[in-house]
Amino acid sequence: MSKTTKQMLGELGEKLVVKRCRCPKCKRERTLRLLPKNFKCADVVCDFCGYLAQVKTSSVSDITVPPKKLISAAWKPQEERMKAGIYFPLFLVLVNDRAKAVYYLSADLQSPEMFIKRKPLSSTARRAGWLGFYYDLEAVEEALVRLI
Ligand SMILES: [Zn+2]
Repeated sequence: MSKTTKQMLGELGEKLVVKRCRCPKCKRERTLRLLPKNFKCADVVCDFCGYLAQVKTSSVSDITVPPKKLISAAWKPQEERMKAGIYFPLFLVLVNDRAKAVYYLSADLQSPEMFIKRKPLSSTARRAGWLGFYYDLEAVEEALVRLI
């Protein structure tokens, strides 16, 4: 099965984080590892301290300006995690054909309001009725820290 542009973009961001970012918890370098694709709640794990994080990659014209919105995954599991008070730190990778940047959003600074439920996919869509969500990054703009 050939990879889509979106999948390739996602892998590029994950590889950059694993290669260049130290673990925010134990501060070690090169201890972050990619989790298998079917691992639902996180994308990377630290193999020293067990720290988990998500990685989102977005293609932008200006890497110094994080997008206001960031499309993410399925709403249901996100909603269930929020009800349980579970939040994961987020690495946000911004790329264009000239440069790359990595931003970090601590789980402690996330709030339920930044996760916005999208409209269900239309009845003609391949996954009709599927509910996704997006991150409202404008709401947490000041909490985003640029690492790279
Ligand atoms: Zn660690």
